Amino acid sequence: MVRKPMALANWKMAMTIAESWEWVRDFRAAAGDLLNEIDVVVCPPYTALWAVIQALGDSPIQVGGQNIAPTAELSRTGEISAALLADVGCQRVMLGHWEVRRYLHDDDETVNRKVHLALEAGLSPILLVGEGRDDPPSIETALEKRLEAVLAGCTAEQVMGMAFIYEPEAAIGATKPVTPDHVAAGSGFIRKWVQDHWGANVANSIRIIYGGSVAPEYAHDLLSCPDVDGLGAGRRGRDPESFTEIVRQIVRVKSE
Ligand code: PEP
Repeated sequence: MVRKPMALANWKMAMTIAESWEWVRDFRAAAGDLLNEIDVVVCPPYTALWAVIQALGDSPIQVGGQNIAPTAELSRTGEISAALLADVGCQRVMLGHWEVRRYLHDDDETVNRKVHLALEAGLSPILLVGEGRDDPPSIETALEKRLEAVLAGCTAEQVMGMAFIYEPEAAIGATKPVTPDHVAAGSGFIRKWVQDHWGANVANSIRIIYGGSVAPEYAHDLLSCPDVDGLGAGRRGRDPESFTEIVRQIVRVKSE
């Protein structure tokens, strides 16, 4: 099965409105027709969502939130619900990012609650899974436990619409990504685990991308892993030139 490749830019707590507008203008101009061949998802901070969505107009670039509250209750000062992200125009939401786990103390059960809230609101989850610094050394053991917990109660149809980012905690904000062999082991395990639980059709449909210190110079080798359908970038995702180069390489390698 041919999967459409995917690229994601996670801006984290960066990018003013003016910088976001500039990014949209420069990235769209640089990416041009590449946008027909890949799903690009940009995840701005909450304050820039509306501006980015307005600036994108009818562009195929999709917009995702970076997180949601673990409840639909309205009395949650300082938080954002799945329904509010859907209302502003997001199609997707990132769930389970290591920084949310680290600083906001989300555990696997909280991520699972958020997965169901996102689905109920019509948002498509982009699920970040990877081994953490405190996990046992086996990638497979860590991923198995995490996948089991964060996807509890999901149907085959729901999983089929999700995307996954394989992101080992130690690779975030580091100087370079983990090795292609490491990425192949992690992404391969995720696809196999999904196949064992929901069958080959679901496993072959989901996009799995790698995230963690991605930069254009590493893209080709990371993309050589057959189970990797694209890349996610934090720091390089804020720079339209670097991100366009990452997108270009994804399209090139995945159409070979
Ligand atoms: C991230 O945290 O999702 C990420 C990939 O960040 P960076 O590319 O800056 O390591």
